[in-house]
Amino acid sequence: MQDSVWQAVLGEVELSVSHGNYVTWFKNSRLLRHKDGVMTIGVTNIFMKQQLSGKWNQMLMDILIRNGIDVQSLEFKVQTGLISKKSMEPDEIILHNPVAERPLQTITRPSSTPNHESHSYRQGINSRYTFDNFIVGSGSDLAYAACQAVASNPGTKYNPLFLYGGVGIGKTHLIQAVGNTIALNKPQTRVVYATIEQFVQEFLHAIRYKKAGGFAEHYRSADVLIIDDIQFIAGKEKTQEEFFHTFNALHQANKQVIISSDRPPKDIPTLQDRLLSRFSMGMTIDMQAPDFETRCVILQAKSSNLNISLGEDVIEHIAHLVTNNVRELEGFLNQLLAHCEMRKVEPTLAVAEEVLGSIKRRPKHISARQVIEKTAKYYQLNIEDIVGPKRDKEIVVPRQIAMYLLREEFGMSFPKIAHELGRKDHTTAIHSVTKIGNEIALSASLREQIDTIRERLYV
Ligand code: ADP
Ligand code: MG
Repeated sequence: MQDSVWQAVLGEVELSVSHGNYVTWFKNSRLLRHKDGVMTIGVTNIFMKQQLSGKWNQMLMDILIRNGIDVQSLEFKVQTGLISKKSMEPDEIILHNPVAERPLQTITRPSSTPNHESHSYRQGINSRYTFDNFIVGSGSDLAYAACQAVASNPGTKYNPLFLYGGVGIGKTHLIQAVGNTIALNKPQTRVVYATIEQFVQEFLHAIRYKKAGGFAEHYRSADVLIIDDIQFIAGKEKTQEEFFHTFNALHQANKQVIISSDRPPKDIPTLQDRLLSRFSMGMTIDMQAPDFETRCVILQAKSSNLNISLGEDVIEHIAHLVTNNVRELEGFLNQLLAHCEMRKVEPTLAVAEEVLGSIKRRPKHISARQVIEKTAKYYQLNIEDIVGPKRDKEIVVPRQIAMYLLREEFGMSFPKIAHELGRKDHTTAIHSVTKIGNEIALSASLREQIDTIRERLYV
């Protein structure tokens, strides 16, 4: 089996876990060997090994088995070679937070040759995110233009640049493209990128270990500060205060600040007024999900990057299925390609429909709530029971069936399914879907029940 298959498996993982988890734990894994039912995966550090062999092991096994891959166990091997040697040079500082077990901090220091490779294996600026490979559509043209303007003249206009919009529509891509462009054109510029969660963790770490000075200095000496997903600053009083001072210091010195958020500043709960007014000082841009044509172009670009040519009908099919999230769009494409690679079939429309579900069977007017309601009704249960905490068998099985239908009929992501069913952990959804999938093959009666519910969904 080739590494491309593992990459395809990762495509499915990407759909099931949060982006942060994906980047931190999965993205830089690699298939080393697959022999006698044992799959050996190369990872870049011991934290990755611990996480993948513990918390995520079952999920990976489920995905592999579901895709018909013969594997009895997974083993993880730390391969220092996977980390470029350069990344350990002093132009990069990585602090590990032993509690969170993830890279706590990524600092890019000025260096005469921009070191892209070293960014690619952890949460930091990813050199993959450039302006060139961002497909501009009507919902993103303004954001794209503003980001380019900031990249060519940081700190002069649009300061701060505040970009907001839904999940998976390219915010991180664009703001990191700014960082990459500046680092390339003006290598002396100190570009600092962090998610607000990293900022919070480093701040707490600094207080705990009485290194607040170093922390403040790190952020306040940036020429360009890029803060991702600022909405998570909600409810964090002390961090808001700290960020306020950081912001002021930079802004007064005409340093560029770029911020992304999933909502406009005024909708971030408990955001202090003084931060709200600071965020509104520069340029605030509302980014929209790509329209149908843009989604088709994105799919074309992604597949031709992989040297795969897909029929227009297949492209349009996928673009119809996923309407408001480019990450999911890529995930669907990856799932299809993974399926074709593993089964050695061509990615025709029929195959796409089989793998991804047919559009006709997934009318938009049916909501997840309705699927859960109809399932509950069929089993004469209350919807509260299905989405509630009860663990009785009479409730657990219908709950699993509802999850199965959401996955099979709607291609919904596992985290979303878990959320809809009131579960905290998305692995519950993965287990349920796998379990029902297996049982259907054995039980004609279960198959009939599910078929009946399915039919009732569409009347
Ligand atoms: P967000 O930060 O808004 O949640 P991301 O920037 O992480 O979204 O985008 C999710 C994925 O989709 C990334 O892999 C990104 O490269 C890709 N992507 C998003 N929008 C576009 C686009 N317009 N053109 C090309 N790729 C895109
Ligand atoms: Mg993002």
